[in-house]
Amino acid sequence: MTIVKHSGFFALLLAFSLVASGQNSTAIRKAMAPQKDAITWYTHLHQQPELSTQEAGTSAYLKQQLRPMGYTIIDSLGYHSFAAILRNGKGPTLLYRTDMDGLPVKEATGWPIASTQTTLKDNEQTPIMHACGHDIHMSTWLNVAQTMYALRKEWKGTLVLIAQSAEEVGKGAKGIFAAKAWNQIPLPDKQLAFHTNASLEVGQLGFCDGYAMAAVDMMNITIYGKGGHGAEPQKAIDPILLAAQYITEIQSIVSRNLPPSDPAVITVGAINGGTVGNVIPSEVTLKLTIRSYSPESRALILQRLKTIGDQLALAAGMEVNQLPKYDLLDMSIPPVFNSLSLGASLKKALAPSFTIVPVVPTMIGEDFGIYSKQNTIPSYLIWLGVLSKNQKEGYLKDSLGIPSLHSARFAPDYTTVIPTATEAMATALLYLFQNP
Ligand SMILES: [Zn+2]
Ligand SMILES: [Zn+2]
Repeated sequence: MTIVKHSGFFALLLAFSLVASGQNSTAIRKAMAPQKDAITWYTHLHQQPELSTQEAGTSAYLKQQLRPMGYTIIDSLGYHSFAAILRNGKGPTLLYRTDMDGLPVKEATGWPIASTQTTLKDNEQTPIMHACGHDIHMSTWLNVAQTMYALRKEWKGTLVLIAQSAEEVGKGAKGIFAAKAWNQIPLPDKQLAFHTNASLEVGQLGFCDGYAMAAVDMMNITIYGKGGHGAEPQKAIDPILLAAQYITEIQSIVSRNLPPSDPAVITVGAINGGTVGNVIPSEVTLKLTIRSYSPESRALILQRLKTIGDQLALAAGMEVNQLPKYDLLDMSIPPVFNSLSLGASLKKALAPSFTIVPVVPTMIGEDFGIYSKQNTIPSYLIWLGVLSKNQKEGYLKDSLGIPSLHSARFAPDYTTVIPTATEAMATALLYLFQNP
């Protein structure tokens, strides 16, 4: 131990914390579920994914596995979400959340345990896959439940484990906080979650202090015009031309209205209008996704989208009662803001045993941001490395590259990820319970 550089007092503290973390690591490894149980959980969950809001089987399976442990289950948290609570004396209340939903993706990992699950969606059999790693999240969560239960003499406080539906569609966390049963859950002091990170290696934990994942808004816009003959544009107001101007003009919001230090994205993902070449239609619809971090930038984007649309329509000759319609869909989620002070504690707890990697913010969304209640409860989402060294080297030689999250080829090295992640989360929880 290289403690000679430190003054006596700090050296003692450092030595003590290393001993304590070493003791925790050994105890955690002993208390963890046997590897064959973890693999059984993962195999079951991986082979039987369910789409967002439909996770009845997944939720029942998790509860069944929790039964031998001393957790109190609280159901009816919206869709299939539930909480498992372990009250273990006077101390802090810590929340740890997993998500449960899969995606409409046809698995292409080539694994013997690949999902062949399908479900009827829009009158078609749709394949389902855990392409976002929520099966890793759940297997780790079960393993942490078991570990923290086995180690309950080592900590005091209340552990609130949340299994959440419908993360992929931004409905699950909202459903939990809208549910009456949420009142039965003690208010957490701190909150944690993992998310698999497709480009980090097993043993690497990604940290992004502050804004880490973006606020997400989805908006449908209808731009009106006056329909007519394609050969007589002077008698019509062409909504296709208006839509083209609008799409071009709104690109100036990010580049010219927002501070460059506050990233945002406006993507028009769909445009629909018209039928044939010689008819000017009467309306065009656009579908947008808007990503932002600060509430100020989000508000400014929404305001500018309307101002630009209204002014272009007026300039084209539309009346004030014919301005575009802006429908903000009921799918908005706030950004994930990782608490700086909680991040510092977690890094201190985890650095002795894991590789802490700084990760830049992403414009992808995650409804874990809702749990922090406008950042009033310190919360942290840690990126979890999932690739073995061999896998990473193989992918880098492959023209398809490293499969991203939501890719049909997403193939975490689950046999090593689950015990590593369990040890990391149990280490973090024990540290936060023991150092409130
Ligand atoms: Zn996802
Ligand atoms: Zn996810």
